[in-house]
Amino acid sequence: MECAPCSPPSTTGKHESGKDSALIYLDNNATTPLHPRVLDSMMPFLRDCWANPSSPYRFGHQARDAMEKARERIAKRVGCKTTELVFCSSGTESDNIAIRGVAHALSSKGGHIITSTIEHPAVLDTCKALERDGFRITRLPVNRDGLVDVAMLEASLCNETILVSVMHANNETGAIQPIEKIAAITKKRGILFHTDAVQSTGKLPLHFDGLGADLITFSGHKLHGPKGIAALFVRTGTPLAPVISGGGQERGLRAGTEHVAGIAGLAEAVDMAFEEQEPENRRIGLLRDRLEKQITASIKDTRINAVHAPRIPNTSNICFHGIDGESVVLGLDVLDICASTGSACSTGDPEPSHVLLAMGLSRREAQGAVRFSLGRDTKEDDVNTVVQALSGIVSRLRSISSL
Ligand code: PLP
Repeated sequence: MECAPCSPPSTTGKHESGKDSALIYLDNNATTPLHPRVLDSMMPFLRDCWANPSSPYRFGHQARDAMEKARERIAKRVGCKTTELVFCSSGTESDNIAIRGVAHALSSKGGHIITSTIEHPAVLDTCKALERDGFRITRLPVNRDGLVDVAMLEASLCNETILVSVMHANNETGAIQPIEKIAAITKKRGILFHTDAVQSTGKLPLHFDGLGADLITFSGHKLHGPKGIAALFVRTGTPLAPVISGGGQERGLRAGTEHVAGIAGLAEAVDMAFEEQEPENRRIGLLRDRLEKQITASIKDTRINAVHAPRIPNTSNICFHGIDGESVVLGLDVLDICASTGSACSTGDPEPSHVLLAMGLSRREAQGAVRFSLGRDTKEDDVNTVVQALSGIVSRLRSISSL
């Protein structure tokens, strides 16, 4: 059966139905729309300069030059050397290259890896797979605000520890982990440190070298870049075994013909994010605070998760007691408002969020959670509309809820 083309959820203009649509998209941690400026930067490499960047003739060199220029732009923005960036297809792949790569490079040195209970499945499931292969995994708990205890992390290190992988900003709550402190500890002990910065790159003023981690993951589609492109920062001298073997691209660390158009788009998206970061963060942070204030003022029995933690400015995770977050999301969807109950990867999973459970919420509390992740298209009016919609949806659901 042929698929109907996806009706674009235009954030302005008319909806497929013909009615004036103002889709309110508050799911920017799941993905972001491709920015027109990014699309423009990609088009020459899709349409004209489509050569394989490894090809030996001038046409190939043009593609390679474009790719290396993009690498230089990204390296300059994120604060690292060009030789420290490995392009790959997704944040998930980047996490895999980092964790499996270190595990296989250092397996003779030790088989112990430390991570946290609130990681993205790209990290958690990779660690689970390594556990089946004989590695020992320590999963650090978090406190009520979703933060890892640095002292506990330090106490968990042992002579066999080869890697610590703790994420930077959590995708569900926005809580920012004390990455610099963790890096100082791992550096002192000579242990490698990977951080998944998929949700913080572009949202925080990051400087990879200064952050102190040896491996840092980021992904294009979270910052208005295209899907299918991401990168791993690999600090010079970090031992890493390739996970994908083949043609030796990306200095042998990620074989496969590079996605030149995607890399050009990633450079544009990173540039854009860093150029506009300060005012955008301020604007979005104020809108997020307003959203939380209005929700807690107008809807009783709500709880903002990780509210005492430092958070990325766009993310709010709120529990509506006595009802199911999934039903709230469906109610919002009917009104053309996009939000989610947590990670897009776990949509349809009846289990409550592993992040919220790790923070000590009961299953029932966690079931009532909704994540709102604001973005560059979010306006003040959107906040008012969402709060009004939520008031109606929550009171209707509570009147029929048996939870
Ligand atoms: N890590 C985090 C924290 C994420 O939020 C995501 C995506 O939601 C990923 C990794 C996976 O990134 P990608 O969708 O590019 O595979």
